[in-house]
Amino acid sequence: MKSRSQIKHCVSALIGLAAMATAVSAPAASPPKVDQALHDQALGILQKSIGFRTVDGAGQMPAYAEYLKSVLVEAGFAPGDITIEPVANTATLVAHYRGTDSSKKPLLLLGHMDVVEAKREDWKRDPFTAVVENGYVFGRGSVDNKFEISMMTATLAKLKREGWKPRRDVILALSGDEETQMVSTRKLASQFKHAELALNGDAGGGLLSEDGKPVVYGLQAGEKTYADFKLTVTNPGGHSSRPGKVNAINQLAKALDRIAAYEFPAMQNELTRAYFKASLPKLSGPIADAIKKYLADPNDAAAIATLSADPGYVGQLRTTCVATQIEGGHAPNALPQKAVANINCRIFPGVAVADVQKTLVDVAADPEVVMTLPGSGSAASDASPLRADVMNAVTKAVHASYPGLSIVPSMSAGATDSMHFRGAGVPSYGVSGLFMKDSDDFAHGLDERAPVAAIDGALAHWDSLLKALAR
Ligand SMILES: [Zn+2]
Repeated sequence: MKSRSQIKHCVSALIGLAAMATAVSAPAASPPKVDQALHDQALGILQKSIGFRTVDGAGQMPAYAEYLKSVLVEAGFAPGDITIEPVANTATLVAHYRGTDSSKKPLLLLGHMDVVEAKREDWKRDPFTAVVENGYVFGRGSVDNKFEISMMTATLAKLKREGWKPRRDVILALSGDEETQMVSTRKLASQFKHAELALNGDAGGGLLSEDGKPVVYGLQAGEKTYADFKLTVTNPGGHSSRPGKVNAINQLAKALDRIAAYEFPAMQNELTRAYFKASLPKLSGPIADAIKKYLADPNDAAAIATLSADPGYVGQLRTTCVATQIEGGHAPNALPQKAVANINCRIFPGVAVADVQKTLVDVAADPEVVMTLPGSGSAASDASPLRADVMNAVTKAVHASYPGLSIVPSMSAGATDSMHFRGAGVPSYGVSGLFMKDSDDFAHGLDERAPVAAIDGALAHWDSLLKALAR
């Protein structure tokens, strides 16, 4: 599902938060410094990681997983506590950091080892040779998701060397096809459905303003379900000089028109309420009024209409479905035998994909428009509860570097590994330790890069989270 790749970013996933950047007075920035040897090791792991071309089908996943294993074993992990398993055409890595209290359920650390394809000829530098230049590490995966994999691995290695003993097991569970089919993710989610909770390095994170000041920290605790529906109309066709009433393109266009006019009902959950509340202090005018009214009355039609008209908010309000692709006909002088459209939906957490399909069929109101769901990558999942222990741990970790910075729970447009863990009943939180500017976010794009200056903060972040939540 390559199309899905376009919708996920580490920082931009914090829907609408970038818009706040201008309006916030940032607290003083004091990015932490960690031990130079640890910094160097983390940077080295990231550089090496980029060198493994772990794109779909390239066959490099086992070698990359073996490399990560070697780092952990060198730090003192028992080789038997690290398992690399082939799954489909990729692999998973599971590393057990044994806790002292076996009655406690494990804490999962999630990340994905695969990356989106990158073509040498399109990039300024070889995407699979890490280059450190102008304060950035360049390379495919430097952000998504090898940055956090490297930070988590370096942190676990450091804690092992120091002899730290968690009370609950900490399990690093890395998937191998998050960007495509998520077969390995589904396997890990069912393997660890008994876990207490999961921390995912592939979502959430801090936003810096263009002059480098912290703006907000986003904690991802839910995601919309991604679904592509295909609408197909087939006709016998014929010569275009003899048109009849039947025309596949016209028929499809009318169905698309009816779908475009339909609005799914507005919905709220704990996450979107928290998101709207957190936005309020930074806003004024009609949007602020509408948010206040919407929070007071979830059925306030005027408020919903105001917010729906703003692309920055509509995604937080409801399931959205929109036409994104169309093809039809086979010659300029022939009646079309076929017309096909893609309807892309972002489904509100807790709503079943099948229910959305049924609604679309009803709205299209034409039995000759055949609706199918070709993909299988996404799964519907509820938002995770904003647990006090998680909120406190994240607040402590973020405030250690950025005192007073606002921490905003968010529901992203999906889809990360977390949706499968949430679907399996494991509360999952996107809590990346990476702080970066919106203008530095090239995840999935050309010349992807991570700021070297973000490494120390991310290491301190994971150290703090683990010590708070795995005690
Ligand atoms: Zn990712």
